[in-house]
Amino acid sequence: MITAERKPISEIKEMIAPYRKILVVGCGSCVAECAAGGEKEVGLLSSALRMDAKASGKEIEIKEITLDRQCVYEFIDHLAEIISQYDAVLSLACGAGVQAVAEVFPKAPILPALNTTFLGETKEAGLWVENCRGCGDCKLGVFAAVCPVTRCAKGLFNGPCGGSKTDRCEVDPDVPCAWQLIVTRLEDMGQLDLLRKVHPPADWSKQQGKGPRKIIREDQRT
Ligand code: SF4
Ligand code: SF4
Repeated sequence: MITAERKPISEIKEMIAPYRKILVVGCGSCVAECAAGGEKEVGLLSSALRMDAKASGKEIEIKEITLDRQCVYEFIDHLAEIISQYDAVLSLACGAGVQAVAEVFPKAPILPALNTTFLGETKEAGLWVENCRGCGDCKLGVFAAVCPVTRCAKGLFNGPCGGSKTDRCEVDPDVPCAWQLIVTRLEDMGQLDLLRKVHPPADWSKQQGKGPRKIIREDQRT
């Protein structure tokens, strides 16, 4: 999933300062799972903004709504009937959701309430960890489902750097050495032979070299 964190309230207050009627829009998918932009967080943020406005004598009107997904047009369409009643949208989606809403409503100010961070997993309650950088050429099949692009501090494809100590990364001892994990898993699966292959440098153009990437699936187009 895509993870995000809420911006500091001072930054949000500064963004919405020119507006009186604000539509606060959450997203019920990834950012709800990471407790940054779901229905609950929309409620908490809206209450905080209302209280702050009251305390500072500012007149403000806030409506809360949470879409199932803010990056899919059929859900964004739920805003069509109400958006014109508001001066601005404060979006608690990831950057993709914010931009998708802005494309559908080109005249409305769409403001981001979150800082989008990384693709990751929920490790335990309250802990999310990055595990994929969307490189566009997934090699998890040869690296025992441990991503060296993301989880090795040096992004090494052909074995460890030699600096790890007691299975910890030399760059950050709080983090397990990705290559220790790769070797251990391959050993456990009896697939150490996979490491005989020498991997060429990654083709980073698949990740970020040619502007925004696209996926086109003719079988999904109607
Ligand atoms: S190899 Fe690429 S696509 Fe696969 S997990 Fe790592 S960054 Fe993500
Ligand atoms: S110690 Fe392991 S994870 Fe850290 S940089 Fe070296 S090989 Fe990569």
